[in-house]
Amino acid sequence: GEPLTLDGITHSYGDGLAVDDVTLQVAGGELVALLGPSGCGKSTLLRIVAGFLNQSQGHVKIGERFVDSLPPNRREVGIVFQNYALFPHMTVADNIAYGLDARGDSRSDQRFRVEKMLKTVRMEDFGDRKPGQLSGGQQQRVALARALAVQPRILLLDEPFAALDKNLRLDMQIEIKRLQRQFALTAILVTHDQEEAMAIADRIAVMRKGRIEQLGTPVEIYDQP
Ligand code: ADP
Ligand code: ADP
Repeated sequence: GEPLTLDGITHSYGDGLAVDDVTLQVAGGELVALLGPSGCGKSTLLRIVAGFLNQSQGHVKIGERFVDSLPPNRREVGIVFQNYALFPHMTVADNIAYGLDARGDSRSDQRFRVEKMLKTVRMEDFGDRKPGQLSGGQQQRVALARALAVQPRILLLDEPFAALDKNLRLDMQIEIKRLQRQFALTAILVTHDQEEAMAIADRIAVMRKGRIEQLGTPVEIYDQP
């Protein structure tokens, strides 16, 4: 994975300051959790990295490249949202192929890659189903497969476990950690759940009122004597 650099990111909605001068370096292959209460600016920061929102100040760099002027579809980021956001009328396979098709991969490349991703998230037998025929946890695995299919440079996880019940949430945490390690993915996880952040993050950025208040490994932040 490539490093991600946020340099002095500031964002205001009208006159409300949502993100206040955030600087953060995520190493290649590292998962950093943005942890903090509702309204502290986590989603705003994530949307800026994804390119859905243009920051008022500061720069975003992926690898050695500034991406500030690139639209979302050219930033090569994969995103998983809490509410799955699968296309309900399309099969699981077609959902996973969506980004591959959009960038012009051949039919046979798409099929090959979809099969591979179905295996990766252990959903081999579900390619022909519609999302509505899957459990919440299965839908979230498909959403992960769709995000990873295009081999994104950065993986963005926006409360990906929030809609799942406790057991599924733990399964999904293990699944994401496994894949993140296996592919050495550079990733950002947005969460308000401390246990979740501790379970899968390499480092945690504790946010408050638009700023990073603390930054360190889970042990450094929570297990100090
Ligand atoms: P979260 O805290 O998980 O980001 P919210 O429920 O706060 O979710 O926000 C849901 C949506 O509403 C988001 O798209 C966000 O941009 C928008 N939103 C949040 N706060 C405001 C606000 N004060 N004014 C307008 N839109 C808002
Ligand atoms: P979090 O993800 O940590 O819940 P957000 O990034 O959603 O925080 O919100 C940070 C601040 O920006 C909050 O005060 C929220 O109300 C405000 N906000 C978020 N989205 C919008 C929006 N679309 N319009 C106006 N204010 C917003």
